Amino acid sequence: MDFQLTPEQEELRRSVRDFIDQECPKHYARRLDRQGEFPHDLWNKIAQRGWLGLPIPKEYGGLGGNIFDMALFLEELSRAMFAPAMTYLISSVFGATSVGHHASEEQKRFYLPRLANGEIKFAFALTEPHSGTDALGMTTWARRDGDHYVIQGPKIFVTAAQMADYILTICRTSQDPKKKSHGISMFVVDAKSPGITPRMLDILGGKSVGTTTIVYKQVRVPASCLLGELDRGWHQLVHTLNNERISIAAMAIGVAQAAFEDALKFSKKRIAFDKPIGQFQSIQHYLADMAASLEYSRLLTYKAAWMQSLGKPCGVQATMAKMVASDMACKVTYNGMQILGGYSYMMGCDMQRYWRDSRLLTIGPISNEMARNFIAMDLGLPRSY
Ligand SMILES: Cc1cc2nc3c(=O)[nH]c(=O)nc-3n(C[C@H](O)[C@H](O)[C@H](O)COP(=O)(O)OP(=O)(O)OC[C@H]3O[C@@H](n4cnc5c(N)ncnc54)[C@H](O)[C@@H]3O)c2cc1C
Repeated sequence: MDFQLTPEQEELRRSVRDFIDQECPKHYARRLDRQGEFPHDLWNKIAQRGWLGLPIPKEYGGLGGNIFDMALFLEELSRAMFAPAMTYLISSVFGATSVGHHASEEQKRFYLPRLANGEIKFAFALTEPHSGTDALGMTTWARRDGDHYVIQGPKIFVTAAQMADYILTICRTSQDPKKKSHGISMFVVDAKSPGITPRMLDILGGKSVGTTTIVYKQVRVPASCLLGELDRGWHQLVHTLNNERISIAAMAIGVAQAAFEDALKFSKKRIAFDKPIGQFQSIQHYLADMAASLEYSRLLTYKAAWMQSLGKPCGVQATMAKMVASDMACKVTYNGMQILGGYSYMMGCDMQRYWRDSRLLTIGPISNEMARNFIAMDLGLPRSY
């Protein structure tokens, strides 16, 4: 067993960390979170470094990295600021890998170089008001009309749609009551199409990226916007799940790492009863638990990333990593607030931002209850839903 990163991975981690420390100091992340503004200048600088192209093959202008590289990148970015990491997950990991896997050659040449250089962003619209975890219950349809499709129906929680150029939209194109996973298709929809008006939702965390609700009103898209095979969209989506889960785990580790570092620093400075609170056993135990849980989350996540990058089956490992790391991040940020006491409750304090941001990670894209269902089924237990 080799627990070391390769020299290239070490170099990637070091250069991303140096860059983030320089370009995304805490006061910057804090200010944009308060203002609910996306860090466009940081995003452009990330694009200039080429990192938006990590998931994109070199022949299409990317760096041709693997999921391990993306996980390291996301961990470092989330340690500083959640919003661009979330955007990276949706646009670069989800958007770019879906296009990379399923698009025609013409579509790849059109979208991938522009995703890599930061010219365009993708959003992703799967969830609907009445179908979240039970995504196959979706009611948004795309019906063929000559050389177009017409999309009609509601989508909710479409993150970053207000600033996206394209929305990867998942809808029904046919219905087989016996096989709900058949008849789903993916479309790359121009976000400026008539009939699309994203409405911002008021949310707890991830405020610098934001999420929206959209009702597609008779949105006409050229038939050439279909991504991959008609009616096979669900099977295509499943293809990207491991990458998505490993990426979420890496983001959870990044946020938790920031919370841990701030809590440790605070525990050495804050005086109570004439000594730093870090000398109290209860505070030491919180910090020891944080360090240990970060370590085991990292081990699980890196193992899943390593397996995925070698093409080994790792659905269970990726799901475990997502579940364990997101639970861990919620606990670490919660206890981080405990250590900082009343100061953590102030909106100017980073700890409450980490706590708000991490809260999403146990809910989506797959909820941790559903993740546990999946792991239980792998243990040979019957499907519970
Ligand atoms: C800020 C934010 C950003 C998001 N961004 C996007 C995005 O960009 N694109 C997108 O498509 N979606 C997005 N989502 C949606 C997210 O993926 C869903 O919220 C998630 O899938 C859960 O669906 P739901 O919220 O409808 O909850 P529900 O599915 O209604 O679940 C409610 C509760 O019931 C539990 N539950 C449901 N079914 C089962 C079962 N079979 N067994 C056990 N427990 C079960 C769930 O685990 C959960 O605890 C986002 C959500 C949020 C909050």
